[in-house]
Amino acid sequence: MSAAPREGRIARFDEPGKPFQIQTVPVPAPGPGEILIRVTRTNICGSDIHAWHGTFATRGLGGQLPTVLGHEMVGAVDELGSGVAADSNGKPLSVGSRVVFPYFFCCHTCRNCLAGRRNACANLKMAMLGRADDPPYFVGGYGDYFLLPAGAVVYAVPASVTDEIASGANCALSQVMYGLERVDQQLGEYVVVQGAGALGLYAIAVAKARGAAKVIAIDGIAERLELATAFGADEVIDITGATTAKERAKLVRGLTDGQGADVVVEVVGHPSAIDEGLVLLGQFGRYVEIGNINIGKTFAFDPSRFVFGNKTMVGVSLYDPAVLSRALDFLAEHQHKLPLERLGAACYPLDDINDAFTAAEGKRDVRASIVPAIP
Ligand SMILES: [Zn+2]
Ligand SMILES: [Zn+2]
Repeated sequence: MSAAPREGRIARFDEPGKPFQIQTVPVPAPGPGEILIRVTRTNICGSDIHAWHGTFATRGLGGQLPTVLGHEMVGAVDELGSGVAADSNGKPLSVGSRVVFPYFFCCHTCRNCLAGRRNACANLKMAMLGRADDPPYFVGGYGDYFLLPAGAVVYAVPASVTDEIASGANCALSQVMYGLERVDQQLGEYVVVQGAGALGLYAIAVAKARGAAKVIAIDGIAERLELATAFGADEVIDITGATTAKERAKLVRGLTDGQGADVVVEVVGHPSAIDEGLVLLGQFGRYVEIGNINIGKTFAFDPSRFVFGNKTMVGVSLYDPAVLSRALDFLAEHQHKLPLERLGAACYPLDDINDAFTAAEGKRDVRASIVPAIP
């Protein structure tokens, strides 16, 4: 029952520093267990920009070039391979079902998977690492299709949650949800979020939903600070006003009854933020490190502060795939209280991906999205 040969576009990524090339390639028929997904929207995440620049080397993860970047995506089932009829919660899937899925694929049988640490799977595979010049071609989000491997975790998107809102679920939102779960953020705690880009805005909203007594956001871009408040931050600190780390630490002390933060989330992506963030923590504070993915960057560290403060630092890479299901629930529940649509406000057709990356890099957009169906 395989359809007549079809073609679709990918934005081929040859190497850092080179423009994306739009290329038309054959659309594969899904094999057993696979799902062919028609991509409806893929965001431009910070890690895509880092890969584009070469500061985050996909090759370091076993990736090959040319490839197709893009991983923060939503789509609709175009064709189900044999043996797949339901999502990972058992909800039926059929052609046209809107779905999200983690952009990394675990074996479910290795030591780490069996220990419930699927994000550390020893046989992890990922979008953006496969070759764009060999079948199945559609190995990343910046294309008309994506071929979901057999055994992948996949979730149907609730009808009430639009593509616009769902597109951030499988990376940014799940990432910060998992980060806050890893440090077991409790009701009534003080939370500081360093950086109010998309990850930071989600972190603010999730920390409030988990019952934070106060969420304090730190950023230097006026629009982001305004968004931070709209996403639930109780207080914002503008680094263009409080220009030194010392001033900001004093502000945080004042806003936390002199205690310091219970949890600090780092989503700035610069090592200097860590040194500052650790100072913001109070006794037994937990530091959630998400943003620094550029290998080789370091910072000076005074461990005595860490010891005397009984502090913990948790590195958080990827997330447990089941978090994505809860992320969809979170969106369905909170979508009318949060201006989520403002995260994906800038849409570009696939053919304009180079412009989209330039705009995203200039931080003109909080989150730019590629929408392949825009002509
Ligand atoms: Zn991402
Ligand atoms: Zn595994």
